[in-house]
Amino acid sequence: MEKRVRVRFAPSPTGGLHMGGVRTALFNYLFAKKHGGDFILRIEDTDQTRFVEGAEEYIINALKWCGIEPNEGVGFGDGKHKPYRQSERKELGIYKKYADKLIASGHAYYAFDTSEELDEMRKRLEAAKVVAPQYNVVTRQNMRNSLTLSAEEVQKELSEGKPYVVRLKVPRNEEIRFNDIIRGWVVVNSAQVDDKVLLKSDGMPTYHLAHIVDDIEMEISHVVRGEEWLPSAPAHILIYRYLGLEESMPKLAHLPLILNPDGNGKISKRESRFPVFPLSWKDPREAEPFIGYKEAGYFPEAFVNILALLGWNPGDNQEIFSVEEISKIFEFERVHKSGAKFDPEKAKWFNQQYLKNKTNAELAALFKPTLIEKGYNLDEIFVQEYCRLVKEKAQFVHEFWQHGYFILEAPTSYDEKVMTKKWNADVKVLFIKLLDKLKTVSKWDAHELHEVFNAAALELGKLDMQVMRVLVTGVAGGPQLFDVMALIGKEKVLERLDEAFKKLS
Ligand code: GLU
Repeated sequence: MEKRVRVRFAPSPTGGLHMGGVRTALFNYLFAKKHGGDFILRIEDTDQTRFVEGAEEYIINALKWCGIEPNEGVGFGDGKHKPYRQSERKELGIYKKYADKLIASGHAYYAFDTSEELDEMRKRLEAAKVVAPQYNVVTRQNMRNSLTLSAEEVQKELSEGKPYVVRLKVPRNEEIRFNDIIRGWVVVNSAQVDDKVLLKSDGMPTYHLAHIVDDIEMEISHVVRGEEWLPSAPAHILIYRYLGLEESMPKLAHLPLILNPDGNGKISKRESRFPVFPLSWKDPREAEPFIGYKEAGYFPEAFVNILALLGWNPGDNQEIFSVEEISKIFEFERVHKSGAKFDPEKAKWFNQQYLKNKTNAELAALFKPTLIEKGYNLDEIFVQEYCRLVKEKAQFVHEFWQHGYFILEAPTSYDEKVMTKKWNADVKVLFIKLLDKLKTVSKWDAHELHEVFNAAALELGKLDMQVMRVLVTGVAGGPQLFDVMALIGKEKVLERLDEAFKKLS
């Protein structure tokens, strides 16, 4: 029988959630949804030295904002496998039990080496020109561990309470192979694998042991994680093997890196000129907060759409997808191996597509706070019409002001380039005559204004639309002029024209 699909997102609370992390969460979510399975949030906090206050809460809020909520885990669901924080699981002795089992079967051992002794070993190996000095099947023979010490010596160290770690006993020459869903077959010889620490001297498990134990106990069917974990996967296979679970272990899928726009190197938060966090993140160790996608004005649907296409493709040219839609067609077979290039300009384009699809009422609700901040408490219909006019030009709601402020604020100056070229006494006379005609307009809407303008041009001679625009708004560009005039309103337009004629000789 096929296992029920159960996947997990297992971040460490070591800082804000980076977009690569959210992408991992998203792919887990999509896969679970596609197969009607479970999506679990597990907090991997065994490295106490890297713990950052507030990070866990941030992770939960970020997933909620993205609309990709786990149905089980820290902060979600009813907790069938609780606790979901590794520090709490450690208290229950869950990891120790597995470590003891590995020791008992001869696949793990105690190592008593002090940090000075480990340093010495590294220096010795470097002096001997060993490329990657590590604690392994060869070097462990010269170290102080339960493989080299006598049983009495080991007992003595343990009973005296000397600090020790538990290491995986990697065999000398064994083939390790696994079929990664994205990468295909990976084959490694165990000689390449180091004797990874499983339990640290403070009794905490390392990631290597803890995630395997939890994946077993939480009945995880697929491990979907970033490519940075691929090099450790062979050691993980050995652990499953020694626990007698290699056959039934979760399937592995390693997601490609997200690369910066030049395609060289991973996106880093310090160097990037675009947000790399979903929500703004104030790192307690940094002076300035990092601005997130939310605060930069991205819609969550757009952000998630962008992430989905970082490494996955639908097989055709469609680019705009809801999470719901992707979850119906998502497959790891369509995730590529090579790094996924992130294009910040394209990200803005995505937001624009979502913006265009919002109703004017939705946009009005989002834009109103800006208007109120600027001192305008306007009625709903007016704000909706404003949004309709400016939304074609904008990529973000916060740009609505710059694309239409002149609808609310009378000009204080007039576009110089246009006026120097096109304004003179004759033109002025023409526009004064047009003003008289506008005064008689009774139905002040865009259609009527267009008619009046055309009729006046026929009667009076050519009337330059751009000059008209500058007289009314002060600027040379903007949404459809007659729409703008209609929204400004008759009284105000007439006033503005009067004012312009006074100021412009
Ligand atoms: N705690 C690991 C991380 O922070 C999780 C890796 C995994 O998903 O197994 O990336």
